[in-house]
Amino acid sequence: MTLLFVSTLMLLFPLVEAARPVVINTWPFKNAAAVAWDTLQSGGSVLDAVEKGCALCEVEQCGGSVGYGGSPDETGETTLDAMIMNGDTMEVGAVANLRRIKNAIGVARAVMERTEQTMLVGESATMFAENMGFIAEDLTTTKSMNIFSQWLKGNCQPNYRKNVVPDSSKSCGPYKPSATLKQSNRTQHANPNSHDTIGIIALDQDGHVAAGTSTNGLTHKVPGRVGDSPIIGAGAYADSSAGAAAATGDGDVMMRFLPSYLAVELMRAGADPSTACETAISRIKRHYPQFFGAIICANTTGHYGAACNKVPALSQFHYMVSTSEMDTPLLKSVDCF
Ligand code: ASP
Repeated sequence: MTLLFVSTLMLLFPLVEAARPVVINTWPFKNAAAVAWDTLQSGGSVLDAVEKGCALCEVEQCGGSVGYGGSPDETGETTLDAMIMNGDTMEVGAVANLRRIKNAIGVARAVMERTEQTMLVGESATMFAENMGFIAEDLTTTKSMNIFSQWLKGNCQPNYRKNVVPDSSKSCGPYKPSATLKQSNRTQHANPNSHDTIGIIALDQDGHVAAGTSTNGLTHKVPGRVGDSPIIGAGAYADSSAGAAAATGDGDVMMRFLPSYLAVELMRAGADPSTACETAISRIKRHYPQFFGAIICANTTGHYGAACNKVPALSQFHYMVSTSEMDTPLLKSVDCF
């Protein structure tokens, strides 16, 4: 009798809140949000949703900082970073410093599904991609060439070098170490307007969680530079027993703090998504008050939040949210602190 009473009560008032499907992405990349959500709604998996959303941004060159033709490095080349994570199995596929392949998120997924490895980089990642049927092509565009030539004309300033001197009379490299090491006084990103990453987190009604990112990194980066976006726990993290998070911003600083991992662990410990996001940002801010960055978080019930650090270029952070209650993805914003 008591058992029957308890079971009836549990049916009426379930202790565990059911998952409400949600897809969230960084920045106001509306088309990517719509594709990711439609993919989920039409029976695709959370991994499909993340992949399709990021892939659309790679084609649309979202913000100029996802996909081909953006963020030329010191040699003028665009290279891509991407990752995808399955929160059920904790499998990850990532590519970093990927050359001459446009669909970085697709290659990341192939790394996850067609190898026992987790991350492939550089020329070898390209070779793997070609073997998997991806087409190699030049990622340079007129726009990226113009950005590069303007920078050359400006004596290669700004750049991300420190404690070096140019090897010749010209101010561009090659560089050699300077005689003394000075503490860097870099307080802010060289150009906060020149970068964005698409980070997507997706949760379905059965509680499956996935996350992923795609970016071309930073304009004028040192060749070979890898940002936070393909680094597990930094750019994104997903665990179907706790939630997911994805970050964007000054990756060289942010990856030192694994903000996505931290946020997911905070949600596991009971923090609501907004608080988890805020704590992850505060942890970085304590050491780098002027860093440029933001993070999105969602827990296993579909509650979500975001947080960002306030720098001149970012007083509010915009992100997209899709749920069953909405007709189209909703643009949300959060005030930075
Ligand atoms: N986090 C990316 C990177 O550092 C860029 C960005 O999200 O703005 O490569």
